[in-house]
Amino acid sequence: MRRGEIIAIGSELLLGGRLDTNSIFLSDGLAEAGVEVRFKTVVGDVEEDIVAVLRTAARRAEVVLLTGGLGPTSDDCTREAVACATGRPLRRRAGAVAGMAKQLAAWGRTPSAAQQRQGLIPAGAEVLANQVGSAPGFALRWQRALIAALPGVPAEAERMFALSLAPMLRRAMASETAERIERLTLHTLGLPESELEQAISGLVPRIGWIRLGLLASPLGVTVSLTATVSDNRLGQKRFGQFGEVLRNIRKKLGRHIYAEGPDTMEQVVGRELTSRGLVLALAESCTGGLIGHRLTQVAGSSAYLDRGVVCYSNRAKTELLDVPERLLIRHGAVSAPVAAAMAKGIRLRSQASVGLSVTGIAGPGGGAAKKPVGLVYVGLDTYQKNGTGKASTTQAFHFHGSRETIKLRASQAALNLLREWLIATGPLDRP
Ligand code: ATP
Ligand code: MG
Repeated sequence: MRRGEIIAIGSELLLGGRLDTNSIFLSDGLAEAGVEVRFKTVVGDVEEDIVAVLRTAARRAEVVLLTGGLGPTSDDCTREAVACATGRPLRRRAGAVAGMAKQLAAWGRTPSAAQQRQGLIPAGAEVLANQVGSAPGFALRWQRALIAALPGVPAEAERMFALSLAPMLRRAMASETAERIERLTLHTLGLPESELEQAISGLVPRIGWIRLGLLASPLGVTVSLTATVSDNRLGQKRFGQFGEVLRNIRKKLGRHIYAEGPDTMEQVVGRELTSRGLVLALAESCTGGLIGHRLTQVAGSSAYLDRGVVCYSNRAKTELLDVPERLLIRHGAVSAPVAAAMAKGIRLRSQASVGLSVTGIAGPGGGAAKKPVGLVYVGLDTYQKNGTGKASTTQAFHFHGSRETIKLRASQAALNLLREWLIATGPLDRP
């Protein structure tokens, strides 16, 4: 397996203001191309520091990706650092200048004097076109390593990697014994990390080339399985074995798996609603619109999301959702009867096919012995009875964590309740 390193360049990444996120998709892309990332380094916009980390990386790895510091300002010194580390002087490259001029012309601009610096590329490097911004990237071979410099702006780096670098890596791979990384991630909800590990520990053989990873977050536990397989007979055998491990894990975790790979809960819920021709309306109290926000992050969600109301106060619950005042007085706003009334109220007011509600105590204050911080009720109301003879349901949850975590967990629980309801219900008649 070829070894890779990522060097994120930018003083802002060291000062606490910004996190290096580029290395996340770069790691994914490298894994897909059969390169195993062994080190990530974050370094400021300081030429001698970049030179030092680049030299170290190029000694250890066959692929070194740099991101950031290609811009026009005087603090951008990645070009100079690569030139210094590799001994390849910077040359003005017609191709780089032309690409930059073309990109800027599309925005009705011409390269400024400062931007002209972006046309300087180390001798012998291949220019990588920037389809999104003005700074070109470049790639060169130095000693045993392929070194590539990408912009820092995430959208630019992502696009340049996909369009120029990934094909370059694939071509390089084709000339070697191809090894690739197979990876699958299963997103689960409802089983704590330790229970989940126990449930599947016997299913993953203790062999070096299959690796199991568990990652817990407020959205659940993600199980990732990674295998290194080559394109020969042994590789095919391993591939088969890996497939079997996956099938066994899928079977064991069953309904706890809500999504796989890059899918998210909101995408899955969107698909389940779409395939049944159903429309959703939301009544959110303690999540303050978070469920609506998450659903509308998915393009095309207008096909199945009608509306969402943030009904934080008791008055809002009565005024906007017709929640009877006596319910609020008798049971309190954070209760199963109120969650049920909220879901029904929003469904009837909106005439959507499904109403989903959340009411809870996000904390840190406002808890009591009977109703502690983290107590959340989710309500669901539909126009038609499902297989169990019910048209509505509520569920209580006890979450822990910060206010933000509880809100996130509550939104996830509500979406999951809807997902499970839809799956259990099967096809519905259209309203
Ligand atoms: P470019 O080469 O595209 O000009 P740059 O480093 O010269 O990149 P900056 O102005 O420093 O450009 O950064 C552009 C934006 O990209 C900033 O908002 C910066 O925080 C962000 N950025 C840079 N590197 C990363 C990274 N590794 N992960 C996430 N964001 C990043
Ligand atoms: Mg920068």
